[in-house]
Amino acid sequence: MSSSTSKIDLHCHTTASDGIKSPTDLIEYAKSVGISTIAITDHDTISGIDEALKAGKRYNVQVIPGIEFSIDYHQGSFHLLGLFIDHTYKPLIEKVEYLAKCRETRSERIVDDLIKHNITISNKEIQKEANGGSIGRPHIARVLIKQGYAKDMKEVFSNFLIKGKPGYIKKEKIQLADAFSLIEKAGGISILAHPISLEYSDSNEFDLFLNKLIKLGLNGIEVYASMHCEKDIEIYSQFTKKYDLLMTGGSDFHGDKGETLGYYCENKLIPATLQNPLKNFFR
Ligand code: AMP
Ligand code: ZN
Ligand code: FE
Ligand code: FE
Repeated sequence: MSSSTSKIDLHCHTTASDGIKSPTDLIEYAKSVGISTIAITDHDTISGIDEALKAGKRYNVQVIPGIEFSIDYHQGSFHLLGLFIDHTYKPLIEKVEYLAKCRETRSERIVDDLIKHNITISNKEIQKEANGGSIGRPHIARVLIKQGYAKDMKEVFSNFLIKGKPGYIKKEKIQLADAFSLIEKAGGISILAHPISLEYSDSNEFDLFLNKLIKLGLNGIEVYASMHCEKDIEIYSQFTKKYDLLMTGGSDFHGDKGETLGYYCENKLIPATLQNPLKNFFR
């Protein structure tokens, strides 16, 4: 399939973290909707990659092994994607195992806090929902919906699990330099995910921040993201040109937030040409 006729998606979640499709189901689904290249970027985990790579071979979909790290940072929400990583790299495995344990402890503390607010859900229900995957707030959100505490994800994330609301507990996150180093040593490239979530108020501030990241080894920016409006896309695309960075795009597919695989927004296709400069990274 040529890149002009196929679709790509470079940011997707599976049941290895908080997506609703297993790696195999996601790849099968990707094939059925015309995706030729897909990156598996679960939150702080690589446990879905083996299965996704196998499914990729079976369904003839090019699978990019990846991860989405939540970075410890004083402002906004800082997510760093690692693409083309060697998911058998020991120090990376050790780090994600540690982060998964932290997520479990945090989930228990979230439940304790919800109970204090008379929202009586249990750790058992959450574990059942996560089904062995790395626990994230969406798992807890789904239990809250099932129990009738909210009608959908949007309502959950307005009333619970966020700063100042019942069930908010800060997450233990990886340090910035550590994340860059692990991605690089695992042979991957690092991409700043949906930069708008960093909440920089102006382009100059973002420029300074970006310079710091470039010194640490940043390779690219996720320009096409569901959180970005057309103007954001223009701005971040200019930054990739200014600093000769790679440009990527993804739907951030989880499966229950109204996302469409291959599209960064409704009816807005992720340009398949973004994968051309990535060709050399495929193993
Ligand atoms: P966690 O890594 O456990 O803090 O969970 C983060 C995930 O929660 C994100 O990747 C989203 O999938 C989900 N999330 C966070 N905020 C919202 C929101 N306002 N609406 C829907 N999903 C959200
Ligand atoms: Zn998520
Ligand atoms: Fe993210
Ligand atoms: Fe994501």
